[in-house]
Amino acid sequence: MRLRVLGCAGGSAPGALLSCYLVDEVLAVDAGALTTALDFTAQRRVQDVLLTHGHLDHVWTLPLFLANRFGGPPVPCRIHGSSYTLETVRSHLFNDRIWPDFTEAVRESVPLVQFLPLDPGDTRPILDFEITSIPLVHAVPSQAYLVRRGRRSLMICGDTYATDPMWNAANAADDLAAVLVECSFPSRYDGLAKASLHLTPRLLALELKKLKRDVPVLVTHIKPEDHHEVVAELTALHDPRVRVLRQAEVLDV
Ligand SMILES: [Zn+2]
Ligand SMILES: [Zn+2]
Repeated sequence: MRLRVLGCAGGSAPGALLSCYLVDEVLAVDAGALTTALDFTAQRRVQDVLLTHGHLDHVWTLPLFLANRFGGPPVPCRIHGSSYTLETVRSHLFNDRIWPDFTEAVRESVPLVQFLPLDPGDTRPILDFEITSIPLVHAVPSQAYLVRRGRRSLMICGDTYATDPMWNAANAADDLAAVLVECSFPSRYDGLAKASLHLTPRLLALELKKLKRDVPVLVTHIKPEDHHEVVAELTALHDPRVRVLRQAEVLDV
């Protein structure tokens, strides 16, 4: 699988794009940078979008992305997420107030947008992938996705605090190639991380004890303001699996 990091910042700042990953050009995970990182041609190649949760930094380009597909030949898009997340974006983004409700849009008898629930514990074939959703611990329901194609799988984490199911699922995946995990704040903000249900390097170190696999752990969702401090703390963990994800990088996993 080819993973393109469209955005991996945990906050908005000049040049820092928000959480958004593209697998094999056709499957997106989160929508923090679909329209800010991809040109129109690349946007139209995306067929399915998995949402980890409904927080704005993970969904904000979705309405604009769908609007961009209305010109030219119809290109349907399927949006997957937990029932809670889909209800959130339908009620609070596509509500005919913030943005038009595209859910009824049909072109040449093709529905342009479909919202398909993928709840924690569900496994479903999507395109050539097998996708499993795993519950996380966050201020709103959030989930990780185990994305498998052929005999390779990739764990892509949404926002989370300390959790067990994701690490259990990672340990159980014999074909696991890498884990993407969030680490939002420096460790001096452990209290804020606990209150907002995110991770810091100190908390992540405890999480990594649960991972029994020798695979790359790609850290994402670092707050831009504290990026250098978080990276220094992650380096000081001396865990050879840990590496900070970089915006716009492409990884073959
Ligand atoms: Zn969040
Ligand atoms: Zn976030």
